Amino acid sequence: MNRAVQETDYDAFSCKVSAIAKHYLPRQVAGEEKEEGEFVQLHMAYAQGLKSVSRRAYSKVDRAVKSAQPVMNYGTYLRSIAIDEAIACFLKEHANFGADAPVQVVNLGCGSDLRMVQLLSQVPHMKWLDLDFKESVALKSRILKDNSLFQRELGPSEATETAEYSTSRYCLASCNLNDIAQVAETLKRFTTQDCPTLVLSECVLCYMKSIESRALIDYIKSFYKTGTWISYDPIGGDDSADKFGKIMQTNLRESRHLEMPTLMIFNSPEKYVQRFDTPPPSTSVVTMWQYYVQSVSSEEKMRLKALQFLDEIEELEIILSHYILAEASWL
Ligand code: SAM
Repeated sequence: MNRAVQETDYDAFSCKVSAIAKHYLPRQVAGEEKEEGEFVQLHMAYAQGLKSVSRRAYSKVDRAVKSAQPVMNYGTYLRSIAIDEAIACFLKEHANFGADAPVQVVNLGCGSDLRMVQLLSQVPHMKWLDLDFKESVALKSRILKDNSLFQRELGPSEATETAEYSTSRYCLASCNLNDIAQVAETLKRFTTQDCPTLVLSECVLCYMKSIESRALIDYIKSFYKTGTWISYDPIGGDDSADKFGKIMQTNLRESRHLEMPTLMIFNSPEKYVQRFDTPPPSTSVVTMWQYYVQSVSSEEKMRLKALQFLDEIEELEIILSHYILAEASWL
């Protein structure tokens, strides 16, 4: 089961590569052409690194990229920009902290996510901790260490027995999030309790059982004095006529031996956000369809429309209504 869960990272990465290849990502923002070029370069460098480190993983990514449908590219684009925006908002709120009182990001189940590379160079008062299973961080660290672009951006890793990659501001370490004692030890070793903390879980809680994800949320909320949790996940749907979650569970079980244990428990945006126990206004949640309708400008919608032919807008609405971005803050 852990192997099947780890391999979901190849899906996440291939979705990103596909969205880049079809020009959904990066989002086009006037004056940010340099950052956009870097974003593409970083992901292509990572894909090349994956090819030399694990042919098997690379061919899975390559196959998935070739079969990506327009609705998936829309989904990846929206997921990516909505999370980037939420992170930017947190960093803006804590912009006054300065070098003597930094902010930190803990990326749970980081997989191949490369957000930290650009953000670390843009935000000097930030530290970043990437966590995933042992095998996943070993793969990621080999790719980062073997490539001069990542070495230049992140700085060389110091020799350490506790992290796979370690600099004064970036750390990539193995941690099984289902093992709360290991989580506690890892967070104590690599992060600071009284530093404003952004916790990111992008398609991660959905693979954990209810008891373990509850323990993880409770521990992290009690450990950091001030925090914001940004979580992106699918939801099963709470309408009895809604078959989305049930079909997704059956497909994953049959094709991948993969479970999403809480898909039908936290099956609506309201139920999902309740798992953080932070009452409004400290909590917000939006489906990706709501985000698309409300937060994507009409120019950007036109740009997306011109990229690939998408005949099924109803299908897009159904799919995007089953993915949410939740945000929960505590003091
Ligand atoms: N967050 C990354 C992204 O969105 O690009 C990767 C998402 S991938 C779908 C899920 C990731 O969560 C995988 O890398 C997997 O290994 C990790 N993961 C899931 N359960 C985990 C656990 N119990 N402990 C550590 N990592 C876990």
